[in-house]
Parts: sequence; structure tokens; C-alpha cells
Amino acid sequence: MAQIDGLPPLREVIATHGLAAKKSLGQNFLLDLNLTARIARIPGDLSQADVLEVGPGPGGLTRGLLANGARRVLAIEKDSRCLPALAEIAEAYPDRLTVIEGDALEVDPLQHLTGPIHVVANLPYNVGTELLIRWLTPQVWPPYWQSLTLMFQREVAERIVAQPGGKAYGRLAVLAQWKAEARIALSLPPEAFTPPPKVSSAVVHLTPRPAPAFPADPGVMERVVAKAFNQRRKMLRAALKGLHPRIEDKLEEAGIAPTDRAETVSIERFAALARALQG
Ligand code: SAM
Repeated sequence: MAQIDGLPPLREVIATHGLAAKKSLGQNFLLDLNLTARIARIPGDLSQADVLEVGPGPGGLTRGLLANGARRVLAIEKDSRCLPALAEIAEAYPDRLTVIEGDALEVDPLQHLTGPIHVVANLPYNVGTELLIRWLTPQVWPPYWQSLTLMFQREVAERIVAQPGGKAYGRLAVLAQWKAEARIALSLPPEAFTPPPKVSSAVVHLTPRPAPAFPADPGVMERVVAKAFNQRRKMLRAALKGLHPRIEDKLEEAGIAPTDRAETVSIERFAALARALQG
């Protein structure tokens, strides 16, 4: 294994600090520093950027980001056991790493960062999905972040990048791709982690579009898409009943056949429907 810095190997860090993985915190650690360095390169040049890292754990990805030249990293970690290991990294990279002990769902990173900001995280998938939705639905667009590089279960990653016509296509795909360009940047087998999870994982890279891909009121778009996929096996004229007294006319106005099902409708058509319902 190549040395990316002068710090001890991660297995040693884990043994020294007693960081046995806790299932309740979704702890599956990446111990291969070559791999974490590869993930750290996904957002591109970080020398002029701040990085928000969520869930650094023993710091494998943090070390990858710092070795890759990130100007500054703000890391939010819930497990206080990890703090001494992270403090050693902060010492090795003076003035470049700030660690906050806390729940990423509660800490406001903008209190601590100036930007441009790249977000990088290997999180338990439920926390990751919740944060992704928050990052995609801020008060103002474009958002504060320049990119998101996020590890998910492979199945969740596929739902984010899914195209119309398949089972994976749903709310997450429409929301993510309406607001951002999303791609799977790296796939990882369970054995890449310690302990290995039951399923494969993938890193998704998202960059925000300057404006949503097709114009529509975000609130109306969200309601339409949620309702359409809530009953995804129903024809849209039935699934969307209640949204408008003449929903069939509105569907046709948007270029959607009332007998279509949500999973075949493109993001462009959903936005057209949201506009038809707005106007
Ligand atoms: N980044 C490390 C790596 O790649 O090896 C650790 C990844 S591990 C899958 C997830 C990390 O997120 C753990 O360190 C866990 O303690 C932390 N975590 C879980 N829930 C969190 C939350 N709500 N806020 C901040 N950190 C959290």
C-alpha cells in the first residue's frame, strides 16, 4: 500500500484509538489510502476550495482530501471516539483541518466555511439520502456547494442516476437530475470496507445546474412528482386525481398521455405538467 502521508496506516489508527466499528452509526470504514485518494480526486482541483466532509470516522478519506491538496477541510463527525485520531491528522496538516463533533443533520456548515465548497461524504445511507435531499432543495438556487461526492449503497446510487423507463427511476432521479448533473463515478465491492457491508456501494458525483433543467415552481414540481410516484403502478390520470379538477387536460397540455405511468415520464414532461398546473 502506497504511503500518501507520514501518518500511521489506518488499521493501526483504529487499534490505537479503539475504533471498533459501530453498526448503529453505519460504520464501514475505508482503510485503503489509495482508494480514499482516488475518491478525493473525484471533485477535481481542491487547492482553491474548502471541503465539507461528513462522517470522517478514523479519517481515511480526510487524509485523501488533504494529501490531494484541499485548501481546507471541515469534518463533521458524530462519534466522539474518532476525535483523537482526527486530531492527529489536523496536527499533520496545520491550519487545514477543522473537526466538529456533532450530527451532520443539525450542524450548519456555512457558519464555518467560506467557499467555494465541495462536499464529500461516506455516510450511512439513510443520513446520506436525507442530506442529499436537503442539499438539492435549498431556499435559493444555485446552492452553496460546487459539487457533491457521496458514497451510497449501489442500489441508491442507481436510483439517483436512473433514466425513465425502469424500476430505479423515481422521485430521487427526478429531483437530482432536475437540479444537478449526476453520474456514478466509482463502484466498490463490499470487501473495500471494514467491516464489509452486505451490499455493493458506489460514489455519486453531482454538480449543480446553474438553474433547474426545465422551468417550474419547485413546490409544485415536488408535489406532482411525489404524488405521481406514490402510486407508480397507476395510470397518471388516477395517480394524480385530486391535483386538479381537469387533470387529464393538464396532462395532455404537458404532452403526457393520461394513461402513462410515472416511471415513463421524462423530467422535461414533469416540469411541463408542473407549469400547466401553475398557470
Ligand atoms: N469516512 C470514513 C471512511 O470512509 O472510512 C467513515 C465512513 S462510515 C461509513 C460513516 C461515518 O459517519 C462514521 O464515522 C459515523 O460515525 C459517521 N456518522 C454517522 N451518522 C452521522 C451523522 N448523523 N453525522 C455525522 N457523522 C455521522
